[in-house]
Amino acid sequence: MTDPDETPRTETPVPARLSAARCPVCGKETAARYRPFCSRRCADVDLSRWFGGGYVVAGHEQVDPEEIADAIAAGEATDPERP
Ligand SMILES: [Zn+2]
Repeated sequence: MTDPDETPRTETPVPARLSAARCPVCGKETAARYRPFCSRRCADVDLSRWFGGGYVVAGHEQVDPEEIADAIAAGEATDPERP
């Protein structure tokens, strides 16, 4: 005896984790537009972390690229342009 009404079992795993993805910055639900973040603000926060992380200079809020190059040059030898 075989069952004629045997339905093919198509198990499609529901990607629950995708819809439940969380913003790595604040932990809120992510927005499709700003994935993997929840908002542009959090995307900017993460971006600034990448940019600011390696160039943190004590006493400087914003670091001028020329200042960094100057500091590197001055680090090896004394700055000849300084009085
Ligand atoms: Zn967020």
